[in-house]
Amino acid sequence: MRLTESDLVGLFDRFEHGREAERSAGLLAALCPERTVGDVSLGDRDRLFLKARREQFGARGVQAKVQCGGCGEWMSLDLGAGFTLPPKVSDTAQVTFEGTAYTLRLPCQDDLLRTQGGQFPMALLCPDAPWESDAFCQAAEAALDAADPGLDLVFDLTCPECGDQTECGLDTLDFLWRDVEACALRFFADVGVLARAFGWSEAETAALSPRRRRRYVEMVT
Ligand SMILES: [Zn+2]
Repeated sequence: MRLTESDLVGLFDRFEHGREAERSAGLLAALCPERTVGDVSLGDRDRLFLKARREQFGARGVQAKVQCGGCGEWMSLDLGAGFTLPPKVSDTAQVTFEGTAYTLRLPCQDDLLRTQGGQFPMALLCPDAPWESDAFCQAAEAALDAADPGLDLVFDLTCPECGDQTECGLDTLDFLWRDVEACALRFFADVGVLARAFGWSEAETAALSPRRRRRYVEMVT
């Protein structure tokens, strides 16, 4: 669903100081009002956020800055405008461990809200599984990656200065949020400019078409 500028400004107001998990839930609820957002798997969420960013703000590359773990040099990851996450293979992950078969559900948005102290609540994916075993946890992570290769996608960047490899995760929430923030800040700036120049209220500026607004802002800046 395409959001209006007023939707985006509203989201920014509500979640600017919120936890990331709440911000993520808020964006999901705005983008798919017909769904129960707590159940959306994190891979689906990431695909949705990237799609929303493309549709809402135009086709721009997916770029991130990463600092080299070896020498501290900054590197950039640029995945290009056409970048999409690989599709989901299955809604569940199967792990056979010490002769017992376990079925895990995929991690979802609500799990983020239940994350405490940075610890993702893996046990919720299959409460009967032996999560105390490191070997099981590793097998579970591999099975989750196989079920949804778009989950926790990590890129290895090689530093051109020192040759070290540094991992870079893809934070789709951060990508989308930065665009929401930029849209809201642009709106506030325009309101401020037109209020000073013509005494217009926020509602009066919001009611102008984007083209009109740009025209008036250009007149006085
Ligand atoms: Zn380096």
